Parts: sequence; C-alpha cells; structure tokens
Amino acid sequence: MSWQKEFKKNVKTLDELKQYLDILPEEEEELSQVIDIHPMSIPRYYLSLIDKNDPKDPIRRMAVPSADELDVAGSYDTSGEKENTKFPGLQHKYPTTVLLLSTNICSMYCRHCFRKRMVGLSNDEIVDRFNRAVEYIKAHEEVNNVLISGGDFLTLKTSIIDKLFGDITKIPHLDFIRFGSRMPVTFPDRILKDPELLKVLSKHSAKNKRLYMVTHFNHKNEITEKAMDGIDRVIRSGVIINNQTVLLKGVNDSPEALAELQNGLVRIGVNPYYIFQCRPVKRVKSNFQLPLIKGYRIVEKAKVNMNGHSKRFKFVMAHKTGKIEIIGAIGEELIFKYHQAKKPEDQGRIFKKKIRYSAGWLDEQPYC
Ligand code: SF4
Repeated sequence: MSWQKEFKKNVKTLDELKQYLDILPEEEEELSQVIDIHPMSIPRYYLSLIDKNDPKDPIRRMAVPSADELDVAGSYDTSGEKENTKFPGLQHKYPTTVLLLSTNICSMYCRHCFRKRMVGLSNDEIVDRFNRAVEYIKAHEEVNNVLISGGDFLTLKTSIIDKLFGDITKIPHLDFIRFGSRMPVTFPDRILKDPELLKVLSKHSAKNKRLYMVTHFNHKNEITEKAMDGIDRVIRSGVIINNQTVLLKGVNDSPEALAELQNGLVRIGVNPYYIFQCRPVKRVKSNFQLPLIKGYRIVEKAKVNMNGHSKRFKFVMAHKTGKIEIIGAIGEELIFKYHQAKKPEDQGRIFKKKIRYSAGWLDEQPYC
C-alpha cells in the first residue's frame, strides 16, 4: 500500500478508535467535544505502539484525545508568533533565521501540539506562499538559514518538496536549511515507501549547504525498528537529524524516561538538540505542562545517566521574548539565560527569578 493510501487510513473517529482501545461510555461525550475543536488523526502504525492494557501509556497520552483538553487555561499563541508574522506563513523573529509554515497537515495531531490554532491550505496556496517566501528571503541578506515547519513538511507531495528545496538552496546567502518532521516517529512509511523522497533529500543536501531534519521523539517506545529504518535512510541520504523533545507530564517526566530517550537517540544517530518546556497552550497546559522547577530537576537528574553526547541539548522555553535556557537553581532562585533573543540587547543575558513552585512559564515567576 502506498504511503498516501496508508495515510488516508488514519484513525479519525471515536468509532474507529474503539476498535483498537477501550473507551469508557462516560468518556465518549467529552471526547467528541474535544475532537470537534481539535481533530484526532492517528496513524495505525503509531496506534500499534500503544499498550492497550495501560490507560496511562505514554504513546496513548500523545495520540489519543482526553477530557483534560476541555480545560482552556493558557493561550493559543504563547511565543508571540502573530507579532513575528511578516505575511501568512512566514515569521521572522531572530535576524538570521526565517520560519516558514508550509502546511497545517501532520501525520498525526499530537495532543500536546502548540500550533493547535492553525487552519488548512490547498496545494496552490502552499506554492504561492513558498514563492513569496523565497522572494522575502532573497531580499534579506542577514538571513543565513530557513526553518521549514508546519504542520509537517513531509506531508506535502514529494514534487512540491523538491521544488521548494530547489528554489531555496539556490539563495546564495543561506548556509543551511532545516525542515521539521515527525514522520520518522509517527509514520515512518512516509520515508520507507517513497524512494523518490530520499533522492530529493540527497539531491538538495549539498556538502556546503546541508539539509537538517528536526524531528520530535518524546519517548523511548517511539524508537522502534521501523523508526530506526526511517532515520537510517534519511541519514544515508546526507541529511543531518536533530531532535526536539517536549517535556510532558505523564510521558517523559522522570529522569529515567528522559535519559533512556536521549541515550536512545544518540544510539540511532539523532542529535539531542532541545528539550522544550511545554508551552502554556490552551487545552495543553493543564494536561501536559510541569512546573519549571520540577522540570529543571528532572532534566538535571536525567543527565546523571547520560554521556556528553546525550546531554548536548539545552533545556529551554520558547518565550515570546526569545529562547530562554533554564540553566540552574540556587537556593530559592531559578537562573535563566537568553540563548536566542528577539531584542539584540537581551542576547546572552542571564537573570534570576524567585522560585514559584507551581509556575510553568516565565511570566508566572515573580521577579526577585
Ligand atoms: S507533528 Fe508537530 S506540528 Fe504536527 S501536531 Fe505533532 S507537534 Fe504539532
């Protein structure tokens, strides 16, 4: 079966889901309400990773809606994406990096996603959006890299991916191009069943202008034989793979789970890049976010069981003022550092805040 046909078989309704998992009758009404607002779409491969006998299974937590999503504490735009948007689909927050939102479609709609607010686009709109983005990047010589995100860039047709890479890699002032995809994790057949995609990656990942895939493994149970095969083929096509993990309550919120994940990634050739504090997104915050101080302690404890390679990541918050690293705790204070700053004067700035034990985001921490 082609990857497109398989993709169409994603589980999208409660009736389909009930064929795989036990859903209590009293849960059904609430889950339907959640799905009406934020759709469900789970690849059958990813569903097969769930332990049906464990209602708290970490894979289930990421894929299957829960009534906790009815809690609307938080915001839909926690990183100031709106104010950094130059035109639909293009954001320019940091001088050297442009973020291009290619599509709103994903292989799976992760329940912890922070871009829950986005809406659908046709293929024609995507191509128009790309053409405009290419002109913008050409006109901004300070930009040395592009991150193509979404949605999931690899849900697009291989011919569109080829065209965009072709146009973007010709821009002389770009050093490298990144693209975000959770396909190796949730739907490896996108890679395994499309040799043409691998040829496209290989064609555009040049020795002096490398393609980087940014993927998103959150738990060791996602590192399966199939996921490893997908990763291996992408690496062999000349693409470097970095991973962004989100620290998630009930998924990877123990030092052991986090260490097993990061060590597993290094084993398969994926570079640990960031661990993100879960954003205070509506319908995500109360379900998945941990307090900052708790997250910091889990990450530090996990590092005891990691080697230097496994702990190359930074534990950061993607805040509207920049990417802020949580670097330490001394006594009753938490210490932060701007790893990337929207305002140049903030770059590298170290600051501290009194610990509030319930605070999950910078704005909830009191100033010292
Ligand atoms: S693959 Fe990424 S963008 Fe898509 S739903 Fe999951 S977290 Fe969100």
